[in-house]
This record gives sequence, C-alpha cells and structure tokens, in this order.
Amino acid sequence: MIEYREEMNSVNAYDTSESEDLIRENIEIIKLDANENALGTSPKVLEALKNRLSKGLNIYPDGSATDLKKALAEKFDIKKENILITNGGDDGIAIIGQVFVQPEDEIIVSENSFVRYTDSSIIMGGKMINVPMKNYVTDLDGFLKSITDRTKIIWFCNPNNPTGSMVEKTKVYEFLDSVPEDILVVYDDAYGEFVEKEWKVDDSATLFKKYKNVITLKTFSKVYGLAGLRVGYLIGDEKLMNLINRGRQPFNSNVLGQVAALAALEDEEFVKKVYETNISEKHKLYKFFEELDIEFIESQTNHIFFKIPNISSTDLYDHLRKKKIFIRPQRENYSRVSIGTPKENEIFIKAIKEII
Ligand SMILES: *Cc1c(COP(=O)(O)O)cnc(C)c1O
Repeated sequence: MIEYREEMNSVNAYDTSESEDLIRENIEIIKLDANENALGTSPKVLEALKNRLSKGLNIYPDGSATDLKKALAEKFDIKKENILITNGGDDGIAIIGQVFVQPEDEIIVSENSFVRYTDSSIIMGGKMINVPMKNYVTDLDGFLKSITDRTKIIWFCNPNNPTGSMVEKTKVYEFLDSVPEDILVVYDDAYGEFVEKEWKVDDSATLFKKYKNVITLKTFSKVYGLAGLRVGYLIGDEKLMNLINRGRQPFNSNVLGQVAALAALEDEEFVKKVYETNISEKHKLYKFFEELDIEFIESQTNHIFFKIPNISSTDLYDHLRKKKIFIRPQRENYSRVSIGTPKENEIFIKAIKEII
C-alpha cells in the first residue's frame, strides 16, 4: 500500500444516493432530498446554453470568469476583485480549507450544519470544535465561548442547512462585532435568496465591507436552479480573495456554467417565482405538519426539518422510498424534506398520512 496522509482516515467519500440510482435508470421519482430548485432551471438559461453549445467546447473557459464577476460586482455594488467564482459552493469550502487550515488549527462549526465544512478542515489536519445548537438554532454565544488562541475559522451557515433555522440579523451583527479580526468567519449564504423579508440580512453578501475577516459563500445551485452545472462564488476583502485565488484550480468554473450563471442572474422573474412558490408551499407544509401534530422547525430556506414521533428517520426514509419519494434522514427522529412543487408536496403529504 502506498503511504498516504493520515487525515484521509477521518474523511468519508460522498457516495451516490439511492435517488440518483433511480434517476439513472430513468425511473420517475419525487426528489426532495437535496434542496434542488423545485421549478427546475429558467428557460432563458436553457436557451443561452443552447446558443453557447452550438459554438463547441474545445476552448478553455475564461479562467477568471470575467463577465460573470462583472455582473456580480454590479449586482452587489462591489469590485470584481472582491469576488471569486468557484466550482459550486463546495469548491469554495474546499479551497478555504486548503488555503487557511494548518494542522492543529481549531475550526468551529455548529454540531448540526453542512458537513462539507468538517471534511474540508479535517482533511487539512484541522481540529473540529462542535458547538451544540440551541433549540435547533445556531448558538452564536456558544461559538464565541469556543474561541481560543488556536481558532482559525468559524463556519456560520445562516439560514442553516439542515435545520432551516436562522439567527436574526441583530444577533448576527453582534456576533461579528465580537469575533477577533484574525479569525476567519465564513458566512454561508447558500439560501439567502429564500429568506423572508423580516428575516433578511440585507448585506449578507457584502458583510466584508464592515468585517474584513468575513467571507460570504454563495451558490447558483439553489434559487438559480443550476446545481448540475456547479457554479458558486465567494465574496470578501480583496486581500483574502487574492490569496484564495492562488489556491484554486485555473479553470474551476466551466464554459457552460459561466454562461448559465450570467443568464440566470438576468432572469429576475424566475428567481421571484421560485421565491414566492417556496414561501406559499412552505406554509402549506407547515399547516399539514401542524394538523398532524408533527414537530417541525420554521424554515428560511427551501427545506424543512421535521420529526415524526415513533418512527425513526431511517424507517421513514424506507417507507417513503417504496413510494419513490426521497427525503434526507437526519439524526434521531428528524428528517429534512426539500420544499417541492405544489404537486410534489401533495404527494409527499399524502404519503406521510398513509405511513402514520
Ligand atoms: C447547497 C449548499 C451549498 C453549495 O452547494 P453547491 O452545489 O456546491 O454550490 C453550500 N452550503 C450549503 C449550506 C448548502 O446547502
């Protein structure tokens, strides 16, 4: 056996899910397990992709994704030097780990949040500090209390995946005010576009303007419906972006991804429709959960964390799988379900009623 880095023993591969197996066999399923866009992809994006495809793909992408950066810079009223395009948000999470984490660095995460933070840090020899949640909400006081001289990064997913819960903005600012400037805070805003007005952290994408140690992580996979093309981005202070830029692969965003993301930014109507459908369907699911006395956490995302008493999450998963409905089992009795189309949600509701 060839010797390899010891850290590899602590990370797991991300395996294909059963739902993906069925899709490969062309079996129709209700896929509510990965928080993908319920309304698909904007037709305008598909049109732009067709046009670009007709020109062939033999030429490398623009490694700096100049046009996409320009469009985003305009959208957020920042410089393109504050933006780094990534191969999906996951790529951004991985590069941040590679650029910043040294062995024995302490990395603070919420115990029930996005798993990629942990893998990208552990693989670099970082030591995870897991902070318990408070009533299924990220505990920012717990984050602050966990800070030591060795703390390098705090990963803060807001709203949070998988719980869907959100820390309100005043507390977000209080927290950022209290974090020492030599600690990097990554504010994962993957679901920022789904947040309801009263909850919205208006400057979530540009927190770096006030806090130089904060990088915001964003993605085209969710509200923009481009999960299959892998486009995300980081926004932060120019110096940090410069550094991270050195750690990325030269062509980490591809030709089609760049074209699609640009077109997706332009189709504001699609984004609005996705947002509105998500809100109304979310309330429909809340109502159903309430009627059946199913415990759930209020969500500011496109998914809901819920618990059915007396059925383990894996049993529930199995029951639903037999009906070709896929959700994501979580710890204890909890499950995470993506908010689907009105029709998908009806089918999900009917299935849960039958199972109970
Ligand atoms: C979906 C998601 C991302 C990014 O996913 P990509 O598809 O890699 O862009 C990042 N963080 C959270 C919390 C997510 O749920």
